[in-house]
Amino acid sequence: MTENLIIIGSGPSGLTAAIYAARANLSPLLLTGQEIGGQIALTDEVENYPGFPDGVTGPELVELMQKQAQKFGAHIEIDVVEKVDLKVHPFQLETQNGATYEAKALIVATGASPRRLGVPGERELTGRGVSYCATCDGFFFRGKEIAVVGGGDSALQEGLFLTRFASKVHVIHRRDSLRAQSILQDRARENPKMNFVWNSVVKEIKGNGSVQKLVVEDTRSGAVSDLPAQGIFVYIGHIPNTSLFKGQLEMNEEGYLKVDEYLHTSVPGVFAAGESHDHHFRQAVVSAGFGCMAEMEAEKFLAAWEHAHKK
Ligand code: NAP
Repeated sequence: MTENLIIIGSGPSGLTAAIYAARANLSPLLLTGQEIGGQIALTDEVENYPGFPDGVTGPELVELMQKQAQKFGAHIEIDVVEKVDLKVHPFQLETQNGATYEAKALIVATGASPRRLGVPGERELTGRGVSYCATCDGFFFRGKEIAVVGGGDSALQEGLFLTRFASKVHVIHRRDSLRAQSILQDRARENPKMNFVWNSVVKEIKGNGSVQKLVVEDTRSGAVSDLPAQGIFVYIGHIPNTSLFKGQLEMNEEGYLKVDEYLHTSVPGVFAAGESHDHHFRQAVVSAGFGCMAEMEAEKFLAAWEHAHKK
């Protein structure tokens, strides 16, 4: 059977597209990726999503969006798309679970993943003190001295969350001013457990079986010193999850999909929504908006296709 619309990815953009497509009677199929929810599902507290004056946890927000999509008839499968062929129409998809699908229209809502530091020790000690998810791993660092890397919203928000567990949270930042919004900066500066390590980069993560210390370089003097830490949480930005589409969809040198103002990719019938193309805003509410836009364009594409293929 050929699906009308397949949505790849289950963050706010994918789930919003699914809500709109289901309400438009398109019976969309959403393939979630490894887990449902994307990056927001790993966020402890979401304070700036409209409609939740008291905040909402990332997992709760995802569950509500999922329920809303399913209520209107969206079909959600936990599966990872491993191969796509966009040179044929209907488009062909193959998944990790061995399923094959074809779709008349596609929304790419694959989002982005945390950027790695790329220093010695990082890969070996991931899951043994190196983490990219405070919500998932913070609990293991009760009473311990840890570090977060980065000077953006994620580093400060997750660093503040980690002060609930850790005895000390060093914020290692490569400059001497923060990129994060001022409300987070104020909270971080006021928190006695937060310690800023300015103009510094991590050169190596050391430990025998688990993280014990970080080798840190002062970017101005070049001086290298050890910083004791049993955990390191890395928040230095993201890489778009678009490798699946290499050679088939146009993208920039960083891998972000090229789209026009209506979220059309370089292949007619394929639309992008969220952090697979948006490297600027990266907000859950913006991604949700992109999901809505992409779906409305997909709807138009499908109507034109049905009209052209009416016997
Ligand atoms: P980000 O804003 O891109 O910040 C990344 C940080 O990592 C920057 O401070 C950057 O330094 C630093 N960095 C980048 N590459 C590095 C490297 N190789 N080594 C050391 N440091 C490096 O990323 P983010 O904090 O994950 O935020 C992403 C987006 O999500 C933003 O738009 C943010 O506003 C949003 N967000 C919002 C909230 C919220 O609203 N509460 C929470 C989380 C995220 P420089 O500053 O020197 O470039």
